[in-house]
Amino acid sequence: MSALKIETEQFSYTVHYSSRRRSVALQVKQGQLTVRAPLGYNLADIKKLVQQKQQWVIKHLQQVKQQIRPQWLAGQQLPLLDSTIGLTRLRGAKSVVLHDEHNITVIVSSRVQPQRYQKVLLTLLQKWYQEQAFSWFAERVFYWQNKMNVRSGNIIIGNWRTKWGYCKSTAELGFNWRLMMAPAWVADYVVVHELAHLKHLNHSPRFWQLVGVYYPQAEQAKAWLKQNQHLLEL
Ligand SMILES: [Zn+2]
Repeated sequence: MSALKIETEQFSYTVHYSSRRRSVALQVKQGQLTVRAPLGYNLADIKKLVQQKQQWVIKHLQQVKQQIRPQWLAGQQLPLLDSTIGLTRLRGAKSVVLHDEHNITVIVSSRVQPQRYQKVLLTLLQKWYQEQAFSWFAERVFYWQNKMNVRSGNIIIGNWRTKWGYCKSTAELGFNWRLMMAPAWVADYVVVHELAHLKHLNHSPRFWQLVGVYYPQAEQAKAWLKQNQHLLEL
């Protein structure tokens, strides 16, 4: 039996040749793709087959990735747009979050029972992220709406599992605080997306065309969110 490592733009995989095999099989296990092929099988044909099955492979590789929880708290580093900030946890008289340019200190009141500690910590952090999100999105909406010549209404910061933002017919815009854990160019895409809904309240070709005019990297941002969604969690 012999093995060969192949790289594609999206993933790498190993081809195992075996004289006992009579057909080609693709297998995704623990986030790895393995191709099993009969000895002497044409490599170009294997590559072609993998390419044809690319969607299936990516979908399965992704599923494994999504089961891995991010370790932000354990690593004592939190993502904030394009930077990372150090996290310090303390106990004190009063629950409060302190923040400077590079660090965030979360003080949990000493009156909080140990079994409730984690929950209180997460609530404080989430509230802090929501405040960051509110000022950041307000500024970005202001910036983009002038460029795009639209007017937004209220800005709401939400905590949703399944959406990044919304735009109502009243021009109210909503943004998910979790976007504060994504790079700024990705969060910015969501701003342009929701503002474009002020002109087209649907996902028609005209809507996507408008998004593309102001945000040429829209496709990359969408792909980034799809691939990294699981990292935008505390
Ligand atoms: Zn939309």
